[in-house]
Amino acid sequence: MIVVLKKGATKKQIEDVEKRLIELGFKTHPIYGDVKTVIGAIGDKRNINKNKILLMDGVEEIIPIMLPYKLAGKELYKEASVIDVDGVKIGGEQLVVMAGPCAIEGEKEFISVAKKVKQSGASILRGGAYKPRSSPYSFQGLELEGLKIMAAAKKETGLKLVTEVVDTRDVETVDKYVDMLQIGARNMQNFRLLKEVGSGSKPVLLKRGLAATITEWLMAAEYIINEGNEKVILCERGIRTYETATRNTMDISAIPVVKNTSHLPIIADPSHATGHAKYVPQMANAAIAAGADGLIIEVHEDPPNAMSDGEQSLRPNEFGDLMKQLSKIAKAVGRFL
Ligand code: PEP
Ligand code: MN
Repeated sequence: MIVVLKKGATKKQIEDVEKRLIELGFKTHPIYGDVKTVIGAIGDKRNINKNKILLMDGVEEIIPIMLPYKLAGKELYKEASVIDVDGVKIGGEQLVVMAGPCAIEGEKEFISVAKKVKQSGASILRGGAYKPRSSPYSFQGLELEGLKIMAAAKKETGLKLVTEVVDTRDVETVDKYVDMLQIGARNMQNFRLLKEVGSGSKPVLLKRGLAATITEWLMAAEYIINEGNEKVILCERGIRTYETATRNTMDISAIPVVKNTSHLPIIADPSHATGHAKYVPQMANAAIAAGADGLIIEVHEDPPNAMSDGEQSLRPNEFGDLMKQLSKIAKAVGRFL
């Protein structure tokens, strides 16, 4: 529920209300507005007498939160969130493009592609160190060595880093090396993992599950925020449908739906959504036109020999061309790159 305080409520009154809510077993989320303060109270309200709050000094009204995702939804936090990834802001007017190979294969290759995506305008470097592969016989990633390579690439280029974490046991290590932790589609409902990244302070890129509804996805975000980490960025990466022409079906409409119901930023991943490099530019443009706050795109210097996802990876020059097209689309929808 949302406890709305009267205009001009004193600091002491606000503190007393918050204290009472905590005593009644709620987690509190105060939001200090220019005119009024509201306190989001998350917990089981069935057994409390509402008057214990409503009749307190300074309280104006109590509004129930109807959506199941209380913290990820827009009822409590009305303003769109802008999330800071080591200085790169996601969710503002400026679009953020993350790019890099599916997997980190070696330092020389990784730094070389990093320099190229940076030159084309990417601000965050992606690369998998722990790879969630469908086959146990496929390349599983360089793990710790991969993280060290990422850190070296950041030193060399200044790009911020995002990488996937697949296991609760690796969260602490991954957190030390990168600026944003990715929860992959296959782990969107790994609740222990969500809680683990939720108890940290680094931004989390939460990909939509292979067959997850938007509500399930936002409930996964709720798990993270409920642990105290409000820095969640959603990523639409395509869902499973009966269509086989593309690897997944990119749910473009998820972008306006999420914008309508959540304050969290949302980006799109046209690489995993389509599975084919030739469709990536159109879907990247479509996502920006639909209101996405950014993109994550796989780029590889030698796609035929990539150790993972070569077929959907753009070459650096193709990525450069796409960035030029994207600035035109961005301008048309009141954004910029
Ligand atoms: C990835 O980003 O490399 C990845 C494995 O993505 P997803 O979890 O969306 O399949
Ligand atoms: Mn990939």
